[in-house]
Amino acid sequence: MDTVILKEGREKSVLRHHPWIFSGAIREVAGNPGPGETVEVRSARGEFLAHGAYAAESHIPVKLWNFTESEAVDEEFFRKRLASAFALRKTVFHGNLPDAFRLVCAESDGLPGLIADVYGEYAVCQITGAGMERHRGLIGELLLDYAKGVYERSDVDSRTKDGLPPRTGHLAGEPLPDVLEFTENGIRYRVDYLAGHKTGFYLDQRDNRRLVAECAAGAENVLNCFSYTGGFGLAALKGGAKHVLNVDSSEPALACARELAALNGFSPDAFGSKEADVFQFLRSCRDARKSFDLIVLDPPKFAETVSQRERAARAYKDINLLAIKLLNPGGQLFTFSCSGAIDDDLFAKIVDSAASDAHRPLRTVRWLSQGPDHPVLTSFPEGRYLKGLQLVASV
Ligand code: SAH
Repeated sequence: MDTVILKEGREKSVLRHHPWIFSGAIREVAGNPGPGETVEVRSARGEFLAHGAYAAESHIPVKLWNFTESEAVDEEFFRKRLASAFALRKTVFHGNLPDAFRLVCAESDGLPGLIADVYGEYAVCQITGAGMERHRGLIGELLLDYAKGVYERSDVDSRTKDGLPPRTGHLAGEPLPDVLEFTENGIRYRVDYLAGHKTGFYLDQRDNRRLVAECAAGAENVLNCFSYTGGFGLAALKGGAKHVLNVDSSEPALACARELAALNGFSPDAFGSKEADVFQFLRSCRDARKSFDLIVLDPPKFAETVSQRERAARAYKDINLLAIKLLNPGGQLFTFSCSGAIDDDLFAKIVDSAASDAHRPLRTVRWLSQGPDHPVLTSFPEGRYLKGLQLVASV
């Protein structure tokens, strides 16, 4: 096996089981490992530290599989990691697995480069790194222990960092039906896993959608910004809201939202949809002096990297300021950020300063995050990307 030797003193993060090795930490690559090949990682003094997958082109050339010299990275290794990921889901859902859940959450499940979401009897996966790519066929077969068919949606930008082209298609087991159906919090969903975002649905917001349902009783009008296929809006109607307006820049996503409303028996009169840029739409609501009892802001990732943090912070502040101004007295705001580069403290500061600029006394009542099927490995805090706040305006 080829060996990656670290610079003097650069083994510290590996000893803490952080799963990444940055190019700056590497002194030498002994041998000529191919893309995704398993390598040994050793300290400058030659001690074994970890096994990892090698990707010469990436700024993170080694992503670590394990920290045990005697444990081979073979079929048994992947079978065990998947079993452990499944066991965790059974624990966090008290043996009562939801219809749809994230089975594998990459680094956080000890499987860098693999996302696997289960929708009913099927799974949709993403292979995002050169290491996992090498074991693609095996992973497909092993996932058949948890689903009767697996589709691959590896059309993510991050693959290019490892020099991999995008790829989508059937991976293992039975072919999947064109649309996957499941129930979440009593709402029926149909997921377009072939063309939808990510693997088709934002499973990470399951608990927050339930919370919105619980808090929406009595809300006359709800504004669901960045609605995608309407998840938060459907939850609000289910919880007793009278009217929801979904706003998204994607008409196909809104069309799917309308279909889901019909599927769940909600009247089209109660479920509006508007194709618009949320930044502009919020301004037009302000100019028209509209106001809402409950607003959800669940934007896409504004900061892809730390370097984009400041610009992203301004964008978060902009939409939060506008939304706060649109809240009725006693109104509620559910505001989210899925940018890993914006941490909880910074996000809370951004929202606090938006409230201050809006001259609205608001109270933060809940600090929210991703669901328990999106765990965070203690040695990899980067796995915690979703943060949210529930705020209530004074009456
Ligand atoms: N809340 C959703 C997920 C939102 S994903 C759920 O629970 O399922 C983010 C959405 O924002 C995507 O649907 C994308 O089409 C939309 N979007 C991105 N930029 C936008 C913009 N400037 N204005 C309106 N929608 C936008």
